[in-house]
Amino acid sequence: MEVTEETASATPETETTETPSSPREVIPPSERPQTSVEREAQLLTPVEVDHGKPLYRQVLPGVMQVPAETVLALVRKSSLWPLTFGLACCAIEMIATYMSHYDLDRFGIFPQASPRQADVMIVAGTVTKKMGPAVKLLYEQMPNPKWVISMGACATNGGPYTRYDRVMQGVDKLIPVDIYVPGCPPRPEALMDGFMALQHKIMEERGKV
Ligand code: SF4
Repeated sequence: MEVTEETASATPETETTETPSSPREVIPPSERPQTSVEREAQLLTPVEVDHGKPLYRQVLPGVMQVPAETVLALVRKSSLWPLTFGLACCAIEMIATYMSHYDLDRFGIFPQASPRQADVMIVAGTVTKKMGPAVKLLYEQMPNPKWVISMGACATNGGPYTRYDRVMQGVDKLIPVDIYVPGCPPRPEALMDGFMALQHKIMEERGKV
């Protein structure tokens, strides 16, 4: 018995020393000992949590469940009431957008004559320093949440009246602006695009207002 063990342990040493040019044994990756980097990577693998299926989804399959903030945002973006007031030539394009050819009503957008019920202000035209306080007062009279669309170059940065002392170089120096519509004047399609951008923003910012 002793002799057999000695010979068995001696055999591989003899083989390796005697035949150095023999092909190396290929160890499959699954049997290869892990390196320290692999061991650490395994330890740092994030935990996967299976939350299962909520009970209400099992009891009421097919019933749509959405957070209240999503419902509120959907309602808000689908019933925008812009305040009706214009400051200069851009207002003509704004009025044209309300007319039947472009038909803003199909977006749920109805002009509202009072700031007390309006939630969107379209600053359409040149904002002079004389008119600025009135624009600010109207904005402050609107209830929250409220949004502002700066329509045209004049309202955005003074437009053709850049560096005119009596013209404000952007209404955003007075009130916060959410959407800028470029152009002099912007076409009704551009204003509609601005409204759609505002609707997208309302959905993106749901739960914050
Ligand atoms: S941007 Fe052009 S069209 Fe609009 S108010 Fe100014 S000058 Fe008039």
